[in-house]
Parts: sequence; structure tokens; C-alpha cells
Amino acid sequence: MQKLIIIGSGPAGLTAAIYGARAGLAPLVIEGPEPGGQLTTTSEVENFPGFEHGIQGPELMEIFRKQAQRFGADTQYGLVTQVDFTGWPFKVWIDDERLEEAAAVILSTGASAKYLGLESEKKLIGHGVSACATCDAFFFKNKEVVVIGGGDSAMEEASYLSRFCSKVTLVHRRSEFRASKIMVQRVMDNPKIDVLLHHTVSEVLTETGHEVVGVMLEDVRNGERRRFKTDGMFLGIGHKPNTDVFAGQIELDAEGYVVVNGTHTSVHGVFAAGDLADKKYRQAITAAGMGCAALLDAEHFLAEKGLA
Ligand code: NAP
Repeated sequence: MQKLIIIGSGPAGLTAAIYGARAGLAPLVIEGPEPGGQLTTTSEVENFPGFEHGIQGPELMEIFRKQAQRFGADTQYGLVTQVDFTGWPFKVWIDDERLEEAAAVILSTGASAKYLGLESEKKLIGHGVSACATCDAFFFKNKEVVVIGGGDSAMEEASYLSRFCSKVTLVHRRSEFRASKIMVQRVMDNPKIDVLLHHTVSEVLTETGHEVVGVMLEDVRNGERRRFKTDGMFLGIGHKPNTDVFAGQIELDAEGYVVVNGTHTSVHGVFAAGDLADKKYRQAITAAGMGCAALLDAEHFLAEKGLA
């Protein structure tokens, strides 16, 4: 039996691993489908304390991982496909085949960008459809793109893309924005950004299947459709917590976020940290802080069991 399994390897999971390894718990970290988490899909990270001149996201996460390994964390590639938290020790299945048992578990599987759910969109992800402006804006230099959404993410993506693209059209389904006033104003004042309200995208258009040539816009007020020429589509419609595998095992809220009290989930001995439990702050540094807290809570639990 493992003393501690950490599921996920973003800032939350790897911070828990650093603290756990230093506490002598030799945690097993199952890295998940995107080792390092969302920061590995960003470029420059300028707001992580300690890096005065910024650092590339993937590089930062590699430092996290090496720091955890240095103290004895066992980081392994793999996807957790099933868990059973109904008894103790807890059971965790990796890649549908391997079973590991653990005295304590920290969940830190993060969140993923949401897509519209269109078949045409799915086929063109990485070929003109993206949910990460900071990762992909460079490929759209002097091109025209649309950005979907009316929250801060969409405003941020539109503003960022306007630095590269010749034209950005922000498409939002309502007339009110969820985004903060200052970010909306920045978009409105930007001569490269057009705002199209009351519209959604019903199809992404392609000619070869490897590029975007336009989108089918739908006016939500009357259902009218029209083709709109564009070279790319960026999603800024929020995130979904990666918690499907925990459904039925711990309490999740209506949107799928893990319900926590501090870092305690509804199962004593299972803790959660980072974006899967935090829809408000969603920062690398807040996730890392929560990862530290989860480890301290897990250590306390293990001490109760006489294991730490
Ligand atoms: P959000 O605030 O939930 O906004 C999502 C937007 O996408 C909404 O305008 C929503 O439209 C739209 N949307 C959702 N599903 C859609 C669909 N299927 N089709 C078309 N439009 C759809 O999400 P977010 O912008 O990612 O922000 C999440 C949190 O992170 C917020 O608290 C935000 O303040 C924060 N954040 C902060 C910053 C920053 O300060 N720098 C940057 C990014 C995010 P409706 O409005 O009609 O529902």
C-alpha cells in the first residue's frame, strides 16, 4: 500500500508532492494526460513569484517535477481510470489495468478548457481551432480570427490575439458581458477588435479538413445563419473541472467541481487541491498554495492512522 497517491501533476499536485516527499511519505504521483497541467500549454509566465523576469510554463513545471523527484516523489506517466473511495485503503486504477492502494489520496486533476461541442470543431482542434491564445496566437500572425465568449477569458484572448492578428472578431451570445468592465473596455477601445453580439457559431468551415476558412454564425434572436470568413477560432468560454472519474465517489457540485472544506473532500482521507476544486481564483500560485495545504491535511490524517 502507498502512503499517499497524488492524482495530477500541475502546480497543485507537484507542490503536494514536494511537501509530501520532504515529509518522508514517498508519494506516488500519477501525472495524467497532460503532465505538468495547463501551464505546459502557456508560453511566458510572468506572475509566478520568484521569477523576476518570467519563465516559460513548461520549464516552470519541469522545475516543479524535478524538485519533487529530488526528495523522493515517484512521478509516473499514467491515467487514473477508476477509483474506489468507499473503503479503506483507497483504491486507484491506472490505465485500466494496474491497481494501487493508498492510505491517503490528493486529487489535483485540474480543469480543461471548454469547447462548443461541434463535430466540425472537434476535427479542427490544432488546425485552426484553439482554446489557448497564448499557445497559438503566433500561428495566426496577420490573419483573421474569431474569439467566442463574453467573460474575462474571452476578453483576455481577444486582446492578446490582437497583438498578432490583423483582425479579431469577438462573438458573444448575449448583449451583457460577464467580464470585468476594465477588460471589456480594453476590447471596445481596441481598433483591431470587432464585437458581434447575439451570435453563436454553429459550424466551423474547412476546405481540406486541415485549416479553418470560416465559421457559420447564427443569430440567436431569429436563427438566421450566415457564413463568416475567418482563419481561426479561439474558445474563451470557460473551463470544466476534470472530475468525471471521481463522480459517485466524492461530492461534486452541479458544475462538477469537488466540494471541499479547506482541502477536505466528502471522504475522510481524500483531499483536493487546485482548479478541480477552485472555480474562483484559478491561478498557478493559488493552486500551489492549496497543494501545500492538502499535503499538510493529508499528513495529519496519516498521523492519525499512525502512518506519518
Ligand atoms: P466565464 O466567466 O464563465 O465566462 C464564460 C463565457 O462564455 C460567458 O460569457 C458565456 O456566455 C460564454 N459561453 C459559455 N458557454 C458558451 C457556449 N456554449 N456558447 C457560447 N458562449 C458560451 O468564464 P471565464 O471567462 O473563463 O472566467 C472564469 C473565471 O476566471 C472568472 O471568475 C474570471 O473573472 C476569471 N478570469 C480572470 C482573468 C483575469 O482577470 N485576467 C482572466 C480569465 C479568467 P454567457 O455570459 O451568455 O453565459
